[in-house]
Amino acid sequence: MKREFAVIGLGRFGGSICRELSREGMEVLAIDLDEDKVNEYRDIAAHAVIADSTDENVLKELGIRNIDHVIVAIGDNIQASMLTTLMLKELGIKTITVKAQNDYHEKILNKIGADHVVHPERDMGKRIAHSIISNNILDYIELSDDHSVVEVKAGSKMSGRSLVDLDIRAEYGCNVVAIKRKKEVIVSPMATEEILENDILIVIGADKDISRFEKNLVIED
Ligand code: ATP
Repeated sequence: MKREFAVIGLGRFGGSICRELSREGMEVLAIDLDEDKVNEYRDIAAHAVIADSTDENVLKELGIRNIDHVIVAIGDNIQASMLTTLMLKELGIKTITVKAQNDYHEKILNKIGADHVVHPERDMGKRIAHSIISNNILDYIELSDDHSVVEVKAGSKMSGRSLVDLDIRAEYGCNVVAIKRKKEVIVSPMATEEILENDILIVIGADKDISRFEKNLVIED
């Protein structure tokens, strides 16, 4: 039977991915060096095995080649994470997602050819920092090193005014890509669209521009 996902490393991050994918009905092969960790996932994942992912023969024996998407969630042992990624790449895995421990690790993973490099602690830190700055900043998602998407609630500074009136694009270089208003979603709103209190705006832009937009229009005095 074709396994759809493999998760290598069942720490908090890998374990959470494994649980969620399994809960969504995906077939997951869970792999860890640590017997206790593997036992924890025996009843959760479709398959749970004790194995060292830096051993190419082990990976082959596990039939990892038949898996479409492998998530490498080995944290502290950066060497093991890179070696595993390299071998998965050589084995021709279609999609490889790897958790990076720091920026250097991320750079090397990109060079090796990881398809997605995630940095959960850093990203979550940023998101939480933004939500701490203001209750009106609901979410913050990094698109690249210097571009992000932010979800903000319209407070007194924006409500009752139109996008053109606020001059968000010209003044701040940001684009409002959608407005959520109760159950309605207005995609690519017109410049004349009037913002109502409690509307949720999805805004995309360069970090420095988003920062000015937040300071001037989102954060309440
Ligand atoms: P988290 O913060 O997500 O809890 P972490 O970043 O601290 O995790 P580690 O605990 O270092 O990550 O590693 C995650 C898991 O990866 C551990 O359970 C560890 O046993 C496993 N692991 C480490 N090296 C290998 C390897 N070569 N093969 C398989 N599993 C491994």
